[in-house]
Amino acid sequence: MNGVTDPGLHDTRRQAFETNKLSKKLHRQVGQAITDFNMIEAGDKVMVCLSGGKDSYALLDVLLSLRERAPVDFDLVAVNLDQKQPGFPAHVLPQYLRSRGVPFHIEDQDTYSIVKRLVPEGQTMCSLCSRLRRGILYRVASELGATKIALGHHRDDMVVTLLMNMFFGGRLKGMPPKLASDDGRHVVIRPLAYVAETDLERWAEHRQFPIIPCTLCGSQDSLQRVQIKAMVREWERQYPGRTDNMLHAMGHVVPSHLMDRRIHPFTSLKASGQADAGGDKAFDDDECASPAAAMPIRVELG
Ligand code: SF4
Repeated sequence: MNGVTDPGLHDTRRQAFETNKLSKKLHRQVGQAITDFNMIEAGDKVMVCLSGGKDSYALLDVLLSLRERAPVDFDLVAVNLDQKQPGFPAHVLPQYLRSRGVPFHIEDQDTYSIVKRLVPEGQTMCSLCSRLRRGILYRVASELGATKIALGHHRDDMVVTLLMNMFFGGRLKGMPPKLASDDGRHVVIRPLAYVAETDLERWAEHRQFPIIPCTLCGSQDSLQRVQIKAMVREWERQYPGRTDNMLHAMGHVVPSHLMDRRIHPFTSLKASGQADAGGDKAFDDDECASPAAAMPIRVELG
């Protein structure tokens, strides 16, 4: 031993440490979301929708290992909808799923031709495509006897959707971590609700998922979504923690400080005559600007 540390060994150890940290973080965040929203219950059969992108691979990967140590028994089945896009490498997912020993179902439905036929050239195909996909996945869930449908949307998708709806839809509406499907027959869950997209990118690289590119159909995300996503990433770069703050805000809604008359009785509001420490400070219009502003103020009287 000459006492000189091998820099290669140091890098490898550091990398292993970072990967272990990321793994713990992902499992903790997914476990927390599942608990917070009661996403998975004993006896559930969870249908994990797998597109071949990094998010759905990571979702399945983390759910598989969480199931090993979960306090309740549940089943997983992976489902991919082969939409017959030109060049779709149909062997990739079955090969991967067999290697992981996961029960799976590949649903072949040529939605690509339908969308191509119905959507005029140059217009985005995503809206019709996802509507068709949704209907098919609901049907498959019923046929497989799945009690939950798990999707791979993550924290950044949820925040971007909230901003999209505010900026372009005039609604304070996001993407819920759990919902009853519009056909009233299924419960859809998003276990990656707390997970940052950058962490999923790192996990996909570490796990070497056989990613299938999502550009095969020739369509793209809308320009608006691309711009909002870039804006959120830039904010996060400049002000680390901002995306988590926005996600946190989605779970801490104060209806009395918004303007929706359907969820707060503004029109019938009267002074109660009782002091309320948690009540409104009508003139503190910047009360959210700093956490200190929310602290009680002690007035010293002479
Ligand atoms: S990107 Fe292509 S496959 Fe994805 S929703 Fe849009 S049209 Fe469908």
